[in-house]
Amino acid sequence: MSDCIFCKIIKGEIPSSKVYEDDAVLAFLDIHPINYGHTLVIPKEHHETVVDLSDNLLQEVILQVKRIGQAVMAGLRVDGFNIGLNNGRAAGQEVDHVHFHVIPRLSNDGLKHWPSREYAESENEKVADKIKQALK
Ligand code: 5GP
Ligand code: ZN
Repeated sequence: MSDCIFCKIIKGEIPSSKVYEDDAVLAFLDIHPINYGHTLVIPKEHHETVVDLSDNLLQEVILQVKRIGQAVMAGLRVDGFNIGLNNGRAAGQEVDHVHFHVIPRLSNDGLKHWPSREYAESENEKVADKIKQALK
């Protein structure tokens, strides 16, 4: 899409620090890293969210996410990494061109994980059932 910031990065109209590129996938450093080496992995075709991707394209992207994660670990000598994908505004998606975040982690980086809550009695079964039904 012409006004998409990541499409502009793909076309070279906006500079980026690229770490990997092939016919279908581009990986480049996030401009505001959570930790140094925070990388975004995107399909070159413009699609808004993960569910808009064909299975084939998703496979191509996720295989590179795995490789970038391994390269982040080995190249930056970090202790682990998070893979993230914000799907929709409510989930924090700001750029409407689907992108996986690969976030290097250090044992002592001080980042907190998301808060968790408890299920009220038997609510977990009801919730699981709603998802199961939607899968059918
Ligand atoms: P979202 O919140 O949509 O999952 O994440 C969007 C990410 O894109 C943010 O982490 C943000 O820092 C990054 N970002 C936004 N604009 C640019 C840009 O022009 N260049 C690069 N390299 N990253 C960007
Ligand atoms: Zn785009």
